[in-house]
Amino acid sequence: MAELQGRYDVIVIGAGPSGAVAAASLVKYGYRVLILERQHFPRFSIGESLLPQSMEFLEQAGMLQAVVEAGFQHKNGAAFCRGYEYDFFDFRQKFSAGWGTTYQVQRSHFDKTLADCAERQGAEIRYGQTVTAIEQSESGVTVDVLPENEAPYRVEAEFLLDGSGFGRVLPRLLKLEKASTLGSRIALFTHVEDNISDPRFDRNKILITVHPSVPEIWYWLIPFSNGRASTGVVLPRELFDESSMDEQATLQGYIAEGGMLSEFLTHAVFDTPMRKLEGYSSDVEQLFGERFALLGNAGEFLDPVFSSGVTIALKSATLAAATLHRQFQGLAPDWKQEYELPLRTGIDTFRVFVDGWYDGRLQNVIFADNKSESVKSMISSILAGYAWDSCNPYVNEPARLSTLAELCRG
Ligand SMILES: Cc1cc2nc3c(=O)[nH]c(=O)nc-3n(C[C@H](O)[C@H](O)[C@H](O)COP(=O)(O)OP(=O)(O)OC[C@H]3O[C@@H](n4cnc5c(N)ncnc54)[C@H](O)[C@@H]3O)c2cc1C
Repeated sequence: MAELQGRYDVIVIGAGPSGAVAAASLVKYGYRVLILERQHFPRFSIGESLLPQSMEFLEQAGMLQAVVEAGFQHKNGAAFCRGYEYDFFDFRQKFSAGWGTTYQVQRSHFDKTLADCAERQGAEIRYGQTVTAIEQSESGVTVDVLPENEAPYRVEAEFLLDGSGFGRVLPRLLKLEKASTLGSRIALFTHVEDNISDPRFDRNKILITVHPSVPEIWYWLIPFSNGRASTGVVLPRELFDESSMDEQATLQGYIAEGGMLSEFLTHAVFDTPMRKLEGYSSDVEQLFGERFALLGNAGEFLDPVFSSGVTIALKSATLAAATLHRQFQGLAPDWKQEYELPLRTGIDTFRVFVDGWYDGRLQNVIFADNKSESVKSMISSILAGYAWDSCNPYVNEPARLSTLAELCRG
């Protein structure tokens, strides 16, 4: 039997954004928290365009100052293009109250900034430690850990938070996985020296480009503050040609078909190896149990198109930490009512937008030139991450999107 090495109030799996923010929040409430992280930071991660709503969660976790000082690219909106059609949403002119700007971040730097903050605030982080198994009992939860080049050990806690992202540790171990309702897609992406001098390109916005003749194919261009950018293409599984081994040529080939995007990237230097992710949309039967809760991508992940992943991860971390605090205070919170359902409200708002994007309704709205300023500000709110603002009619009645799409078409 592996040696037992200590007991904590909470163990968090993963030091990504959800794990770091949950840990910092719990430390602030006064708990002993251990984060077990499989990799060593800084490490690459995808998910580089933040939404303004996430600033509130970073502020609550005491991490905002460090993020502001890190020198990331300022972001104030989202621009969309299809061939040479172009429109943009300025998040500062949104319906909901709150932050209207944020950042586009190299995640290696961003995630290390958050993890270092959590550590400075008192969370213990052990890097190079893979969680391999867990055991729940009356008295708590025991976690099996496999460190690099050392003997496996066990560690105990009252409660376990799974912030393992695409590692999806608890969904796999506890067989909680459920198929996503979203189709299977592939993302091919890389970082480039962008060399963009075209005045039409706004570095303060993410650029989402729709393929001019295949609306299910779209691209992102996320500029960073150092003259580099992240770019990638998302395509349905069936459109990806397995026989084409050269993924860089595939990405560049699609970019060449991207109208304005291809002009922006004319002088880009593709100097970084390509990456490919597929089948990333996922869901789970439940987001909590007696002794655990799932955070961020370890719970439900929809789709990258509206850059909602980190915002949902931070929202889940903030909500879970507050609910767990009430549990530790003996208030017996109802995790379904106080964690799962509130979190899923915002995810469901994004889901309507993601569905509307792929079936064409939202693209019709975005590229319509007859949308009113008030409708634009409500859509802008959701694109800025305010998917939990129940004052916004598009949060309360997401079916409005269909009506709006009809109006825009007419
Ligand atoms: C193509 C694509 C583009 C995206 N673009 C955006 C975007 O622009 N903006 C945005 O907000 N989101 C985006 N996302 C989503 C974003 O990547 C995630 O939502 C976000 O990283 C989730 O954060 P997290 O903390 O839940 O998990 P992660 O950031 O994945 O962190 C999980 C951590 O857990 C660790 N871990 C895993 N398994 C174990 C284990 N067994 N033991 C110990 N540690 C473990 C990992 O090493 C990792 O460090 C995108 C996703 C995809 C697929």
